[in-house]
Amino acid sequence: MFLEVNDLTVDFHTEDGVVHAVDGLSFEVERGTTLGIVGESGSGKSVTNLAILGLHNRETAQISGSIRHDGQELLGAPRTTMERLRGNQIAMIFQDPLTSLSPYHTVGAQIAEVYRKHKGVSKSTARDRAIEMLDRVGIPQPKIRVDDYPHQFSGGMRQRAMIAMALVCDPGLLIADEPTTALDVTVQAQILDLLRDLQEQTGTAIILITHDLGVVANTAHNVLVMYAGRAVERGTMREVLREPRHPYTWGLLASMPSLRRTVDLPLEPVRGTPPSLINVPPGCPFHPRCDYMHLAGPELCKGERPELSPHRGHGDACYLSLKQKTDSRPGKEGK
Ligand code: SF4
Repeated sequence: MFLEVNDLTVDFHTEDGVVHAVDGLSFEVERGTTLGIVGESGSGKSVTNLAILGLHNRETAQISGSIRHDGQELLGAPRTTMERLRGNQIAMIFQDPLTSLSPYHTVGAQIAEVYRKHKGVSKSTARDRAIEMLDRVGIPQPKIRVDDYPHQFSGGMRQRAMIAMALVCDPGLLIADEPTTALDVTVQAQILDLLRDLQEQTGTAIILITHDLGVVANTAHNVLVMYAGRAVERGTMREVLREPRHPYTWGLLASMPSLRRTVDLPLEPVRGTPPSLINVPPGCPFHPRCDYMHLAGPELCKGERPELSPHRGHGDACYLSLKQKTDSRPGKEGK
């Protein structure tokens, strides 16, 4: 397996108490595949990926478990090892390219700099590579636009430039954190298509972090749904979108206009708000927001934490029986 995360826990010690940002999370990503990690803000998606990149402050974050990348353990790896891996073998793109790109340097110079730093090539070789990458991500007239500053690019072009910068060293793993949230729907679709095309060409593994199940619908091979720092459902994209089992996943699906339009159901946000990660509810952390607890038994739901099962394949962390899940799933009659 190319990336294996096992029993990952990330705690932050704050003045108000210990924030349990990620709690016993496990998942795998194979080369050439995309894992969509989905959940609301504060579900632990981004914290998980910053742990993979080794970007947490080691003095305030307490991290345990295992993150194995291409056979190498990353947790506890020396800073120099992580610096060598970041940008070279593991790259990341963020939601807002304007804050990630320096306004004082040309787009081409910033892409070339990453290549020079990791590959030790000459300035002119790095510049040629920057032009090649801008061309690959669909920037028109790349030989001219290479000398533009970020403010001279549109939002969609800036995100393409960020992708060019992330992929310039041919990393095996790309982490894309809400890469299309700041873009309009048409440009969003173009960027997702671009990521998929580049993946087909290069075999890069992608972790796509999003709050929007609609984004993973056409992009991800596998999906992990996170809630309160834990995985509550995992499966192939088809399994999770067509036969969702966890009430939280049902709630996410019901709140997505793009995914509900074929099913005659009103749009509904998930009731309530995500829990404080300092005081995560006991038992099933979703129980204060769950409309199905009466079926599984409130004592059980409030008393004991459900584990993700089965261990492999389509699994979820909920006490409802498979029949209850199948019978209760909203909109199943619309399929
Ligand atoms: Fe709802 Fe209980 Fe399932 Fe949690 S375990 S999602 S509270 S039914």
